[in-house]
Amino acid sequence: MRDSNCIFCKIAAGEIPSKTIYEDQEFRVMLDISPATRGHALIIPKEHYADLYEMPNNIVAQAMVLAKKMASHMTKVLQCDGFNIVQNNGEAAGQTVFHFHMHLIPRYVKDGNQEKLSWNHLDLPENELDEIYQKLKL
Ligand code: AMP
Ligand code: ZN
Repeated sequence: MRDSNCIFCKIAAGEIPSKTIYEDQEFRVMLDISPATRGHALIIPKEHYADLYEMPNNIVAQAMVLAKKMASHMTKVLQCDGFNIVQNNGEAAGQTVFHFHMHLIPRYVKDGNQEKLSWNHLDLPENELDEIYQKLKL
């Protein structure tokens, strides 16, 4: 399935050029056009899925295995000091392109992103924490 209005579908199909560093039948891995750090790349499936919830489990599993392969390769080549794998779902979570993608972000000591890739910690009272716990446990 493709979405004719989706920029990542067009990139996945090769209709819009990209700096593709890896490609197979299911995925394309390309450099992010506006990178957070040197080497920031995106894994995108060739099929259109808006987000994680829409992805079939076998593609989710393959994406994670590919993330590991790419992270290992990129760490070796770029000699980075750490690595973030980030995947946003929904506007509230910072998703701006609604075609599933995983961010592969090589991290370097003092790369200037320490604050941006972290979050504040809530000081939740025990009863609220417990309420959430009761709701969530499967
Ligand atoms: P997100 O905010 O998680 O939806 O991430 C979308 C990412 O896609 C951003 O980091 C953008 O810089 C990146 N992006 C948008 N358009 C392109 C493009 N044409 N080629 C490569 N990366 C892109
Ligand atoms: Zn798409």
